[in-house]
Amino acid sequence: MLDYHLPDYHIHTWHCGHAAGQMEEYLAAARQKGITEIGFADHIPMYWLLPEQRDPSLAMQEKELAFYLAEINRLQAKNQDLTLKVGLEVDFIPGREKELAHFLGKYTFDYLIGSVHYLNGWGFDQATQQAAYAGKDPVAVYHQYFGLLKEAALSGFFDIIAHPDLIKKFNYRLAEEPIPLYLETAKAFAQAGVCVEINTAGLRVPAGEIYPSLSFLKVCRQHGVPATVGSDAHQPDQVGYEFKEAVQHLRRAGYHEVALYSKRYQYSHNTGI
Ligand SMILES: [Zn+2]
Ligand SMILES: [Zn+2]
Repeated sequence: MLDYHLPDYHIHTWHCGHAAGQMEEYLAAARQKGITEIGFADHIPMYWLLPEQRDPSLAMQEKELAFYLAEINRLQAKNQDLTLKVGLEVDFIPGREKELAHFLGKYTFDYLIGSVHYLNGWGFDQATQQAAYAGKDPVAVYHQYFGLLKEAALSGFFDIIAHPDLIKKFNYRLAEEPIPLYLETAKAFAQAGVCVEINTAGLRVPAGEIYPSLSFLKVCRQHGVPATVGSDAHQPDQVGYEFKEAVQHLRRAGYHEVALYSKRYQYSHNTGI
């Protein structure tokens, strides 16, 4: 059991094609860990590709989205001891803003998590596309990644920016942490009014470290950027994954509160940290 109350706002289910578990199993896992508020944030259907190009192992099908949303509402009615939130993890693909606005306009969410998983079509966080790192200039890759992250924040589509230094996933790192990029990005987050997501999935990958790094999180804190917490669970036992580490991360960066959302409205929750 956790000493502090933290919600888990980044949970996937079987709907996205590469996670395991029914929603009920995630609820049971949350209950067992003493987590009383969770948000599902499955991957948005790949609206930016033609239907025949969409990979069903990467994101849910568009026809499933209505069912996914209805299922969360149905489970909320049946499980009054927990607070369930309706979220979605949304790829930011420059040039596709119109389609995205049209897509999102059809549904109601508590929050939207914006993610950068693609650099010019390169799925840099996919194990199968790791070979493409070879021969690239790391400084240029980092600039491109953080540039897109800023663009995503300023696009106005999102409430939260996910795993904001995902580019380190396979331990692809610069000689020194790119503090100037962190500064620019944190300023963009503050200007856009988005939250930085503390995502513990970084502890399960070669990087072996929470997203974002402590230095980046401190810069966010200095610029008044609110934070949310997510496990990026892809199986039920990952709900609240290493939240003890998340508590330490929040504490070291000077955060005492996390943000909660309801119907895209942000309010703050004192964690007691
Ligand atoms: Zn993601
Ligand atoms: Zn995710």
